[in-house]
Amino acid sequence: MINYHLSKRQTWFQLLLATSVITVSNISVSASQSLAIDITDVIKGTVQYVQIANISDEQEIEIGKQTNQQVLSQYQLYNNSQIQQYVSDLGQELVSASDSRDIPFNFQVVSSDEVNAFATPGGFVYVTTGLLKTAENRAQLASVMAHEIAHINEKHGVKALKQAVAAQGIAGAAGVETSQLAQIAYQLTLDLPQSRSFEYEADNSGLKILQQSGYPAQAFADFLAKLESSGNTPEFIRTHPTSENRIKAISQNTQISNSNKGQDPTEYSNNVLSLL
Ligand SMILES: [Zn+2]
Repeated sequence: MINYHLSKRQTWFQLLLATSVITVSNISVSASQSLAIDITDVIKGTVQYVQIANISDEQEIEIGKQTNQQVLSQYQLYNNSQIQQYVSDLGQELVSASDSRDIPFNFQVVSSDEVNAFATPGGFVYVTTGLLKTAENRAQLASVMAHEIAHINEKHGVKALKQAVAAQGIAGAAGVETSQLAQIAYQLTLDLPQSRSFEYEADNSGLKILQQSGYPAQAFADFLAKLESSGNTPEFIRTHPTSENRIKAISQNTQISNSNKGQDPTEYSNNVLSLL
């Protein structure tokens, strides 16, 4: 995944990882010294280490919180409490109606004309104002959010994190610092293409969430088709499977429900579009 294609940002990312190797090596120069440093720092609460092979939900949530701080240093939260509430309520509706993980989920709208949605480990989902403007109704927005919730349920962020740490060999005996994992998770989320298998898995799992919540699966196909025709390339498009293939897969793998839930354009226009 991390070697998919080279870019300036990825070169920077590799440099970051290389720097991290040096840091970890320095810590393990002397076992006794390392132990003393670790215990002192842990007592002070300044450094937390995670054993990468066995990340607990609590550790994943902590990584997510720190990644969230980085996301919010890059993006501004959209300053409209009604819109934030609308998206948060929709997210919680999808989580509670489906077989989602028993962790707190957090849904936030960030200001960006880029049409995008993304998820980090630990239950954090983000949608941009550009995406809100592109959706035509609540069901289409729900379909994208369900896809992002699915990434969290399937622990794709954690799996990608493990792969990145293993590939770069940066795990010391004490594990890897939470802050370092958050930095990598941030890069993986925003800068690097997601794996093809993760995307198909999130599509399928997201559609189940959508249907369990009573929204029509067709809304996701409609939204992908709209993005394809408009030439936008958000996270869930900027991947190996083309939208056309994904739309086909959606149609073949799901029974298209007759539900009209969330498809009233006036409701969406009144509650979201008119406030943007
Ligand atoms: Zn995705």
